[in-house]
Order: sequence, then C-alpha cells, then structure tokens
Amino acid sequence: MDAAIFYGPNDIQIKDIDLREKKSNDNCLLKVLSCSVCSYDVRTFRNGHFKVTPPMILGHEICAEMVEEYQGKNFSIKPKTRVSVYPILPCFTCWYCNNKNYNLCINLKELGSTIDGGFAEYLLIPKMIFDIGGAVPVLDNISNEEAALIEPLACCLNSINQIKNLDFDSVIILGDGPIGIMQLMLLKRFFKVNITMMGKIKHRLDLAKKLGAEMTILIDNENNFEKYRESIKNANNGFSPNIIFVSNNNPNSLNLALKMANKNGKIVLFSGIKNENTKNKNTFTIDPNFIHYNQISIFGSFSSTPNNMIEAMNLVSSKEIDMKNLVTHTFSLTELKEALITAESFKGFKSIINNFS
Ligand SMILES: [Zn+2]
Ligand SMILES: [Zn+2]
Repeated sequence: MDAAIFYGPNDIQIKDIDLREKKSNDNCLLKVLSCSVCSYDVRTFRNGHFKVTPPMILGHEICAEMVEEYQGKNFSIKPKTRVSVYPILPCFTCWYCNNKNYNLCINLKELGSTIDGGFAEYLLIPKMIFDIGGAVPVLDNISNEEAALIEPLACCLNSINQIKNLDFDSVIILGDGPIGIMQLMLLKRFFKVNITMMGKIKHRLDLAKKLGAEMTILIDNENNFEKYRESIKNANNGFSPNIIFVSNNNPNSLNLALKMANKNGKIVLFSGIKNENTKNKNTFTIDPNFIHYNQISIFGSFSSTPNNMIEAMNLVSSKEIDMKNLVTHTFSLTELKEALITAESFKGFKSIINNFS
C-alpha cells in the first residue's frame, strides 16, 4: 500500500510499504477513507517534534473503514463499518487510565506520533483502542470528511469542559482557525455568552461572525492589546470575568491572553505552540503578583477522551454542530505536501486527504 512517510523536517515521501509484518492478533486492519491535516502535522513536517521519531506516518484525524471484524468482550464492529478513530493508546495501568482520563496517561502512545497514523491507504489500529470505545461508528448522515473532524471536535469539547462549571459571560477566542471556529460553535451551543473572536485572517473572522461571534478583531499587532481590550470592554459588560481560549500556535498568544484577562479571568491553553521540536525548549515568564492580585487561572487542555468523541459524533449527526463550513480543501494522498502547505498558509479551513482507491 502507499503511505506518506515522514523522514524528518521537510521530508515526506510516498512509499509503497507492506503492512503484513506489523499485522498481529493485537491489531485490526482498516482502510483509511479520510485523514485531516492538523496544525500539529504542519509543525512536525516543518520542524520535527520531540514526540516523533522518524520514519513515521503522521495523521491522527482519521475516518476509516473496518477491513476485518473487531470482536471485543462486550461488543463487535463488523467489516465495512466506518469509524472515527480515537488516536490515543493508553497503558491501562496508571492513575489516569484507571479513571478513564486516557488523554493524560503517563505512558501514552499516539497514532500519527509514536504509532503510524492515517496518511496512508491502510492502517493498523491496536485492539486496545477498540476496547476503550475508541473506534466510534460513523452515523449515516455524516460524510467521511466530517467524520475525520470528529477527533478535533472532541478535543474542543474537552477544552470547553475545563471551564463548564465556572461563572462567566464573555469569552475571547484567540485564533480564527478550525479549532477556534469549533470552539465558537460549541460555546454558542452550550452557553449564553458573548464571544469575541480574535485572529489574523479576514475570511476566517467573517465565518466566525456568520456563526454568531458578537465581535471579531483582526489582530494587526499583538502589542496593540490596549486598543483590543478597550473595544471588547465596550461591547461586553465592562470588566466582568472573562474566559480566554488560546487556540493557535503563536508563542506570543499566551502573553496576549494575559494582557486581555480581566480580574478572575481564566485562560485555557488549547494548542501546542511552535518550536516544540526540542523537549522543554519553550519557556515563558509570568509575574506571580499579576496572577495573585487579579485572581487569574490558567488551564491546560490536551486531546480528548473516547466519551468526547461519542458526544462530538452525536452533535454533528444531530446537526447541532455543522462541520461543513470547515471542509474546504481535499487532496489525494500523493498530494499530502500540498495539503500541508495549504493548511500552513491559512487557505480555507481544513485540508483533508481522501483515499480515492
Ligand atoms: Zn490534531
Ligand atoms: Zn496510562
């Protein structure tokens, strides 16, 4: 089968490989139908990533079709069934796994990072992912492309769960990419909040407006935070507690978020940031007195759980969340490099690899 193999920064090659030697009783063979490009893939393609040891097949936003049957203790999944794939392989022994927080497993392995992922014609998925409900059957009214986006939508649900019990009436989303748009749609679905979307790409902010953002701000320079702060203050209830989602990979964004935070404000750090090719390379200075006297909190949010995947699937199937606006560019596997560059240059929203064979 053909697979796009990442050999190192800027080096991805389509190769004909044989999966037979990796096939075992512990994994299932699936045919990839669609695999969406995540900004993580773009960053890894350009700079490498401390998690990824080449050669590796990237791609973790996967819709695939069962080639063989999965037979588990409590349920089975038949051949030809389409599934959205949860990309985390947990260890089942740590505290987090015992509490079903598989995304926080201390020994986790990830499809498309430490195990071969979805930029290929076929992939092998460890049965342990099936055992935890990580192959979520795709409902009939959902396209392959939309099904590939269930994984990032699940991650957005996880990020929103970090703040769901807090008292707030205004939200700022820093980042107008697919993640920011998904968070916008989810926040509008679950909360009565005033949303300001801040980003650098005009057409993306236009969609945010269409989807209900009360205000959009085109960021021309992160140092202009006082101007942004003033216009948001006027549009919202003055300086009420706010929540700020950092949903882009620009290293300056956390700083901007701190500048935009009101007293009792909460910041949710969704995205990994650029230059993460070396472990612990990113550092950031925070004034502890600012955090203390203003009662600021910073929350991290990483990946998702299988339950988030199921909830995401139901939200898309019931049309409460419409992913169609985000499916803007499709490519074949041999065009993966073009797809990565399209995503990198902020064209449209999602670049998706379709398996046409
Ligand atoms: Zn992703
Ligand atoms: Zn674990």
